[in-house]
Amino acid sequence: MGRLALVTGGSRGIGAAISNGLKAAGYKVAANYAGNDAAAEAFTADTGIPTYKWSVADYDACVAGIQKVEADLGPVEVLVNNAGITRDAMFHKMSREQWQEVIDTNLSGVFNMTHPIWSGMRDRGFGRIINISSINGQKGQAGQANYSAAKAGDLGITKALAQEGAFKGITVNAICPGYIGTEMVRAIPEKVLNEKIIPQIPVGRLGEPEEIARCVAFLASDEAGFITGSTISANGGQFFV
Ligand code: NDP
Repeated sequence: MGRLALVTGGSRGIGAAISNGLKAAGYKVAANYAGNDAAAEAFTADTGIPTYKWSVADYDACVAGIQKVEADLGPVEVLVNNAGITRDAMFHKMSREQWQEVIDTNLSGVFNMTHPIWSGMRDRGFGRIINISSINGQKGQAGQANYSAAKAGDLGITKALAQEGAFKGITVNAICPGYIGTEMVRAIPEKVLNEKIIPQIPVGRLGEPEEIARCVAFLASDEAGFITGSTISANGGQFFV
């Protein structure tokens, strides 16, 4: 069996495609999720990939969850910080709760998951951290001050940790998906999707979760060892950095 990969939010949407892609590439995979037990059970039944429930927004829960995964499957060598939420509102209507929930999950979640795993990766001299940020962390998005701030923060921690991890064999990279056809995006009214969002995507369609999963599998591989601190923009040509 290959290395162990832990994928947060790994039982649905982009995360499920990442879990499946890594399994197909020969990794042992553990998928974390937050609360949707039915989706997690169906995912495990379909794929054989074990699922583990805890919130990435809770540091102590991350420590306990990672301990359980490692006791079951061995040390985490690849960490994919994919779990994410939206709580959209124009800024003048955004509540402190909407701000904090998104920061806690989408930004602090990356700290909460990476911090307990980091020392083990340093000791073993190998690690791959892949952070799923967003096009809206690169360009900003009206109605998503919270999400844009958190996802931009994910790019900052990626670059800082890349510098700290490089001499210990740890690479840290980010992927910024554009609009991908998951539940998060399908929740947008169809009229808005068809009339406002898709016309802004030069390739003329939403992305597929598997198109993000293939970027993750590449960054996780030994062949990507010279790539660290980088951001892959996978957005159908919608935005260039
Ligand atoms: P989905 O809403 O389809 O799935 C989100 C996943 O994250 C679920 O598995 C969910 O668990 C999990 N999750 C949410 N909160 C937590 C938490 N606190 N702790 C642990 N797990 C949690 O999202 P997508 O697949 O669309 O998005 C995945 C990532 O990609 C996110 O970070 C998102 O911001 C990013 N992204 C998505 C884009 C898109 O177009 N879809 C575009 C750009 C970035 P549960 O199943 O239990 O609810």
